[in-house]
Amino acid sequence: MEPNGILIYAELDDNNNLKQVVTELLSKARQLKEKLWNQRVMACLIGPRINYDNIISDLGNYGADEVIVVTDDRLKIYNKEYYAKIFSDIAKKYPPRIILIGATNKGKEIASYCAMEFETGLTADCTNLDIGENHLLLSTRPTFGGQLTADILCSTFPQMATVQQNIFKPEYKEQNPTVNFHWFDLDKIEKKIEVINICKKTASTFDISSSKIIVSGGKGACKDNGFALIHELAHKLKGTVAGSRSAYEAGYITKAQQVGQTGKIVSPKLYIAVGISGANQHIEGIKNSGKIIAINKDKEAPIFKYADIGIVGDLFEIIPELIEKIDKEECNE
Ligand SMILES: Cc1cc2nc3c(=O)[nH]c(=O)nc-3n(C[C@H](O)[C@H](O)[C@H](O)COP(=O)(O)OP(=O)(O)OC[C@H]3O[C@@H](n4cnc5c(N)ncnc54)[C@H](O)[C@@H]3O)c2cc1C
Repeated sequence: MEPNGILIYAELDDNNNLKQVVTELLSKARQLKEKLWNQRVMACLIGPRINYDNIISDLGNYGADEVIVVTDDRLKIYNKEYYAKIFSDIAKKYPPRIILIGATNKGKEIASYCAMEFETGLTADCTNLDIGENHLLLSTRPTFGGQLTADILCSTFPQMATVQQNIFKPEYKEQNPTVNFHWFDLDKIEKKIEVINICKKTASTFDISSSKIIVSGGKGACKDNGFALIHELAHKLKGTVAGSRSAYEAGYITKAQQVGQTGKIVSPKLYIAVGISGANQHIEGIKNSGKIIAINKDKEAPIFKYADIGIVGDLFEIIPELIEKIDKEECNE
């Protein structure tokens, strides 16, 4: 069968809500299909047996022409062996020209398994997607440590790409998708992994991709208890703590809190960069922020080129002043 259409993995979160990255990928796929003779955009939804009516209509409204649903109560807890096998078998059944998957932990597992099954290429962590020469998917991603961007054309099918959340804008246009339910014989899947327990994420590893306010610390804050000030400011602003790779390497934040090319792409309304120089790889992760405030004692620091408000000064003086101002405002309310 000729490869046809664009297939997207409709990932759900732990509460069976649709991940935002899926709506973003669908909206992008709706643009791409115009350059592909209007081939179908398909979303593959895998999960336990629950009512997916709202999710299916969201998938349609964000761009899916067709929703393929596989449900089974054994899919209640994510298991790569089930999910990756089901997704790649569905992909083989249809088979699409293009497969797009969110670059989440689960998405990355499913994408790599699927690429291996098809023996095709996979461009990971793309920062743009388009249709290039010969109607092939043109995937753009940073390379050489973020110093260059590479445009990659994959000539084997399906052409696969993963994309982090917040790269594309979701666009809502009402549309009713066709829905196809598939039954899958899970007993036939040889399972080598048994999930025996799930530990819920703690507040400190809250998903920064969805935070509205982020206070982010860099190497400049990795001394003299600078991160205690960052936590206090984030708490006052009801925001989330994040940081640069230097802060991660110094052990002040977890990998899930690292912002940038090899961390998370964020799009908060407010991003406060404290003691962060503004290396390309960090900027890559904050470009979609609403407003950026930078606090740095070096007036030449590159971060100031990207900041809406730049404060040149020592964070150990500036942040206590900011906290004091917030406290006063709260008292006056
Ligand atoms: C392949 C690759 C991928 C990478 N991925 C990422 C990534 O995802 N995210 C990322 O962040 N980096 C990434 N990096 C690293 C990146 O190149 C920089 O090294 C890193 O971002 C620097 O972190 P920083 O700004 O915290 O530290 P620095 O560059 O050392 O900057 C510290 C800043 O703090 C300021 N400062 C010091 N003391 C104070 C004070 N008291 N008050 C105010 N300001 C002060 C200094 O003036 C300085 O500007 C990557 C690098 C490579 C090669």
